[in-house]
Amino acid sequence: MKSGAVGALERIKNPSRVARLVMDQTNRAFLVGEGALKFARAHGVPEQNLLTERSRKIWLYWKEKLSGRDDWMERGEEEQKDPDIRWYIEKFGVEDFRPQGTINCNALTASGDLVGTTTTSGLFFKLPGRLGDSPVIGAGLYVDGEVGACGSTGWGEGNIRLCGSHTVVELMRQGKSPQDAALATLERVVNASKYYRDKNGRPDFQLNYYVINKKGEYAGAALWNGSYGLAGGSKKFTPSRFAVADAGGARLQESPYLMKR
Ligand code: ASP
Repeated sequence: MKSGAVGALERIKNPSRVARLVMDQTNRAFLVGEGALKFARAHGVPEQNLLTERSRKIWLYWKEKLSGRDDWMERGEEEQKDPDIRWYIEKFGVEDFRPQGTINCNALTASGDLVGTTTTSGLFFKLPGRLGDSPVIGAGLYVDGEVGACGSTGWGEGNIRLCGSHTVVELMRQGKSPQDAALATLERVVNASKYYRDKNGRPDFQLNYYVINKKGEYAGAALWNGSYGLAGGSKKFTPSRFAVADAGGARLQESPYLMKR
């Protein structure tokens, strides 16, 4: 039940380091924005400009393509020949697709302690000030040393509303296995998100939980069995997976899921 978090923190490559300092070196739980940056500076955590040339160009391309009725004009074919823009199109397609990037990692130590961290760059092209679920204790991560640990990736808003990771851990406290607790929580998120549906009435978002309990039993669980990416222009299916490392080595496993594409 020790925790530390930072959010809306810019210019710091590894925010989880700063979150760890909040946990170990303050009597507070959550620092955000400018205050979190000042705290990181005070501890000598290096600052850097994280905007790469590729990211800048991709943002500009996305911005220009959004609407033909605003002041940002598209540059057409010439722009699409730029290797950085090509990289984006080949990886994600030309449509308004907004990838995300989160890592959650939970562990049971040899001495029986449970630990976890969730770290993210958040959602591409988000509203300034938008905070996802990753740094929110109980949503993107929850660790109770007596019961288990859970973290998430995917649609942050749906997960925040249901305090997803906390719910998973509470269901394990009541006796559910990591897998059953995670799938039951995904079902609750789906039932609580009736306005977020595709044209067939199915959830239009992905959400994943990664869970371990005090006994070392673990599970990954996904709302959808995987996703169709537009890699190289072909619709390639990537199954929902999670990584495990234990005495048997490190490996990827496919996640049990609620719904099939
Ligand atoms: N959960 C993250 C967020 O909502 C995104 C992600 O998992 O990639 O910000």
